[in-house]
Amino acid sequence: MERTQYMTRTSIEWVRNPGEGSQGFTVNPIRFRNKQTGKVGHYCEKLSPGCKNCYASRMQKGPYLSGLEFTAENKSRGELFFDENVLQQVLRRRKPSTFFWADCTDLFGDWVPDEWIDRCAATCALTPHHRHLWLTKRAKRMREYFGHSDYRPVMVGAASKSLSALTFTLPSEDVFDARRIAWGQSWKINAWPLPNLGLGVSAEDQERADERIPDLLQTPAAMRFVSEEPLLGPISHRWAKWEPLKIGFNGQFDGLRGIHWVICGGESGPGARPMHPDWPRGLRDQCQAAGVPFFFKQWGEWLPTGQKQHYSLATLIDPPDDRTPGQPMGDAYIYRVGKKSAGRLLDGRVWDEMPEMLR
Ligand code: SF4
Repeated sequence: MERTQYMTRTSIEWVRNPGEGSQGFTVNPIRFRNKQTGKVGHYCEKLSPGCKNCYASRMQKGPYLSGLEFTAENKSRGELFFDENVLQQVLRRRKPSTFFWADCTDLFGDWVPDEWIDRCAATCALTPHHRHLWLTKRAKRMREYFGHSDYRPVMVGAASKSLSALTFTLPSEDVFDARRIAWGQSWKINAWPLPNLGLGVSAEDQERADERIPDLLQTPAAMRFVSEEPLLGPISHRWAKWEPLKIGFNGQFDGLRGIHWVICGGESGPGARPMHPDWPRGLRDQCQAAGVPFFFKQWGEWLPTGQKQHYSLATLIDPPDDRTPGQPMGDAYIYRVGKKSAGRLLDGRVWDEMPEMLR
């Protein structure tokens, strides 16, 4: 049996609707059907250490999804398709909302044709009352896709025209040239980059930050963000490799100039790797110095000592039950308490800062 769920209210802490701050939605139009069972889920390919314990891959084993985890050999066991019903739900929602796209795959994976991405972008263009967030590990392709500022707005405009006809969605004069459309001419988008679309890259460690953030900085976007989750090591935005971009002045924190939001968090779920407290602290301090909003999503499975009062050092090192005993991690002591107990206080406070576009 196939369960059809196009738009899901998400529990991801940083996906919040503008204004009231209630939880936003995830949408996944890139889908994958198991050829043998007919069950439908998602497909992605693991790329870097942050993908090791991918929850979307694990979820596929559940009763309602494809049954095929994200492995190379599983690609031939299913077929990819684009589910337009997902777009229609977004287009039909009137209440201003925030949508996080493709949390169960990567929109810029090489298995996703440009035409599908055009249709996703067209949905964003036709819904200027919503906020949209795209996040990728394939930053180079995202830069190339959005970098074609000559013909890409024409392609997305063409996709907007066909979607609009399907749902009777009226084009916004902010985004499209209404006179040109009235005269039956091109639907070329005139607001490029799209003002309601935030583009982000995931960077779990310094190597991935050095590789992906420069591409992000060269991608035209109304809002750029970096998700440093699961954070697997310290990350400095005061670099060497990014310097040749010459974004902003040539001093400290250049790497955060042009970035509008940093999210960070530890890993949760089976096999979760711990996060040293100095890693999120370092990012927080860099963001504060650079005036960039910082969002601390969670500690994940592991909590370091000193971050929650009701876990004393003695309890962490020698737990009174059968939980994993605490263990040293550099100069810190960490203890597996589970994501819920670990919570999301960093040095005694919640860090929930949001960029202007999402407020
Ligand atoms: S890119 Fe994202 S969805 Fe794809 S395997 Fe990696 S963590 Fe999972």
